Amino acid sequence: MKTAPVLTEIKKLNIHTPATQLGKGQPAVKKPSRAEAEAAIRTLLMWAGEDPEREGLQDTPARVARAYEEFFKGYSEDPVALLARTFEEIEGYDEMVVLRDIRVESHCEHHMVPIIGRAHVAYLPHTRVVGISKLARVVDAYAHRFQIQEKLTAQIANTINDVLQPRGVAVVIEANHQCMSTRGVHKPGASMITSRMLGAFRDDPSTRREFLAMIAQRSCTSVEA
Ligand SMILES: [Zn+2]
Repeated sequence: MKTAPVLTEIKKLNIHTPATQLGKGQPAVKKPSRAEAEAAIRTLLMWAGEDPEREGLQDTPARVARAYEEFFKGYSEDPVALLARTFEEIEGYDEMVVLRDIRVESHCEHHMVPIIGRAHVAYLPHTRVVGISKLARVVDAYAHRFQIQEKLTAQIANTINDVLQPRGVAVVIEANHQCMSTRGVHKPGASMITSRMLGAFRDDPSTRREFLAMIAQRSCTSVEA
């Protein structure tokens, strides 16, 4: 009889969401060359009415390509792996862990313009905790992709829930969408708020209230766009 293959701990933990949804994120299309990307940017400059050969614009396609590498570096990051290292010596700590006001820089997948805001992330540890900066890195790994805010919120919460298996996870994101502030309806002051509550944050009103009170303490200033 064959013995079962040894799964890595992370694979065993991915019980709710397939790994393909959790972080790989790479679309199944061939990545164009840098030269092809720069040619596309020159086309957009001409579409806007510009001459891409004039002095001020000569290096713009290369700069934009480099900026895109930075804006969208999340496609090469695996959020599940970011949470792989956990700590179990927590002396029975079982209260809420909250990281609030995490700067969010993303891009709307409908208009390819910035979404700027902040995220508040909380979980109720079961037997282990994760380094607090890792929560911010998970936010970044998903934010540095083309997104809609609803999906971004759910991806962050689901990944923390699947990997850490805590008693609950809460994610709230408040953000300004430049597709709404600088074009279309032109409403610069409007911010969008999304939330995803799992486990105790969904089932226990007092836990949810405690979390919302914690993030409300300082969240009365408006989001910078
Ligand atoms: Zn948009």
